[in-house]
Amino acid sequence: MTAQEQPELKYKRILLKLGGESLMGRRSHGVDPEATLRIAREISEIQAMGAEIAIVVGGGNIFRGMAAAAKGMDRGTADYMGMLATLMNALALHDAFSKIHVPVRVQSAINAPQVAEPYIRQKAIRHMEKGRIVILASGVGSPYFTTDTAAALRAVEIGAEAILKATKVDGIYTKDPKKHADAIKYHKVSYDQALKDKLRVMDMTAFAMCRDNHMPVIVFDFFTPGNLKKVVHGKKIGTVVY
Ligand code: UDP
Repeated sequence: MTAQEQPELKYKRILLKLGGESLMGRRSHGVDPEATLRIAREISEIQAMGAEIAIVVGGGNIFRGMAAAAKGMDRGTADYMGMLATLMNALALHDAFSKIHVPVRVQSAINAPQVAEPYIRQKAIRHMEKGRIVILASGVGSPYFTTDTAAALRAVEIGAEAILKATKVDGIYTKDPKKHADAIKYHKVSYDQALKDKLRVMDMTAFAMCRDNHMPVIVFDFFTPGNLKKVVHGKKIGTVVY
């Protein structure tokens, strides 16, 4: 089936936010090449359907600045280490996409010309238009931010129609569904309601950026095969924050 024959995509240009932990597989830290390859396969399916994809990858499977700062490290230095961790993950993803012959580029907000292009907005857009997946590494390139904020900023910059936040839970609940049997899932929730109900969608900087720029965020369980496809087709998966 060609891209033209596919059913309409609800979201054509998307920003997929992948937490670093998604590359761990069953490990307690680091990168599991098999899990990374599975993720690349899943993403390549929506690319084949005509989706334009930018990925912001986190680094929590390797290093988190805040955690190191809490143990006495200088926060700025620790955050730069965290950003470098995201670059390592980006390279692991690049490797996985290349193995399955999916065109891909890595752009980094910290200059690392031997391994990645610098982040250039217009060039990132051009890559997507040409059918390449763009992996955006090193967050926003500054300490005291998270990759959720990078996802929000880049999504707005590249004109993404939505941020797809890949998680292990299938959406946002009134309370922690693991601890409370009576927790209720939101299928849709406005930014104002999310604030009122004190729901943790993203950190506050990312949240404000998305709200001010009318960027929908879809929180969904990425680890159930086929879910990503359903999300881009606009099926009722996860929670839409709008
Ligand atoms: N980080 C940063 N600036 C950014 C993005 C990330 O300083 O713009 C650092 C920060 O220390 C963070 C680490 O990189 O803890 C890894 O990113 P994050 O915690 O967002 O990764 P995730 O939880 O998504 O795996």
